[in-house]
Amino acid sequence: MEDELGSHKKETMCEVCSIQLDKVEQAEMLTDKELHILRHPKRVISINLPVRMDNGDVELFSSFRIQYNDARGPTKGGLRFHPTVSQDDVEELAFLMTLKCAVVNIPYGGAKGGVAVDPSKLSEAELERLSRAYVQAYHEHIGPKKDIPAPDVNTDSRVMSWMLDEYETITGESNPGIITGKPKHLFGSRGREYATALGGAIILEEYLEMRDRNEEDIDVAIQGFGNVGSHLARILDERGFDVVSVSDASGGIHDANGIDIKKLLDVYEDDGDLTNMENVEEISNDALLTSDVDVLIPAAIEDQIHEDNMDDIQADLILEMANGPITPEADDHLADHDVEVIPDILANAGGVTVSYFEWLQNISNEYWTEDRVNETLKENMVQAFRDMQNIHEQEGTTMREAAYVLAINRVLDAERYRSNLSR
Ligand code: GLU
Repeated sequence: MEDELGSHKKETMCEVCSIQLDKVEQAEMLTDKELHILRHPKRVISINLPVRMDNGDVELFSSFRIQYNDARGPTKGGLRFHPTVSQDDVEELAFLMTLKCAVVNIPYGGAKGGVAVDPSKLSEAELERLSRAYVQAYHEHIGPKKDIPAPDVNTDSRVMSWMLDEYETITGESNPGIITGKPKHLFGSRGREYATALGGAIILEEYLEMRDRNEEDIDVAIQGFGNVGSHLARILDERGFDVVSVSDASGGIHDANGIDIKKLLDVYEDDGDLTNMENVEEISNDALLTSDVDVLIPAAIEDQIHEDNMDDIQADLILEMANGPITPEADDHLADHDVEVIPDILANAGGVTVSYFEWLQNISNEYWTEDRVNETLKENMVQAFRDMQNIHEQEGTTMREAAYVLAINRVLDAERYRSNLSR
């Protein structure tokens, strides 16, 4: 059932990546060969996964793993379970992972995986069989020195545990560096769970410090209250920001004086419904995106800021914690209207950075304290922000273009030293 597509099968890459690359091409004068390498994934694997359901039927789920570029090291990236997963989506996300690992300068290429499934319709036992089926199908293509999966949308440390166990059962060896985002009790890293959020908070503080702005004067709205959004709300609240609005798929809440985030986290833990919080206004997801705040943080899914709502954005700054939350049209429009955007490949790179620390701990069999993880994360994120900022200032580009230029030059340098491109 396996279908390995050659890298030349598709003429063009996903639209969003292509539009961004065109911009970098103009700024950096990339050659046709450089563009060819950047526009084509190295390896696309697509496998139908048969999984036995609790009622005895077997269902087939389409699945993918796209290893986009491995010039800078083994490919790295999450695996998502979502009904809309398609090859194009996974390809876009694998391209973004390539750039993300390069922006934070960790020794990995980029990959992404996905299964087209609605996990909320599966029992726990079905979810486990699906997770194990993925590893049975892909185990030859992954490995600590080949390609290292991790959590992404709708996959968590429990799914990573099943996958690690399946891999070790198949290979007959302990090999915790095969996958990251594992629970602490199964060789996971301290701090991995909130690392994406902490990385975003570190970047936001660097940005504000550069502009001499104080946390206490900043109102924030966060779209998404999953792993990233909820930890980010907690961290920003602890650091003195006013988190005035938050939302998830079921609705949102607003308090102009700042939501009591500690209380909200308790309410949410008890019944998983933000709107059960007392003494706050209810607000729709659309209203949250266009509300009058200093910083807007999309932390849910792709394409949330688009042609229909881009005119109404009031925030001065958008911190992209989701992957690809702004469409290319909206991105151009925001840049023309002086709304600054800290791009996903920098803002949410804290997760993969701590995945790298987890992998380092696994292959050395030496485990770090939480403080060491968080301090090292801060050093890496601040360095990446400064590297991006230098290009942003010197070349007068948007922060997104600066991050792309930084990442693409790092990837192409590695390709040149491998003699895959002329120097
Ligand atoms: N899924 C996360 C991302 O998009 C983490 C990937 C990883 O840790 O490898 O960055």
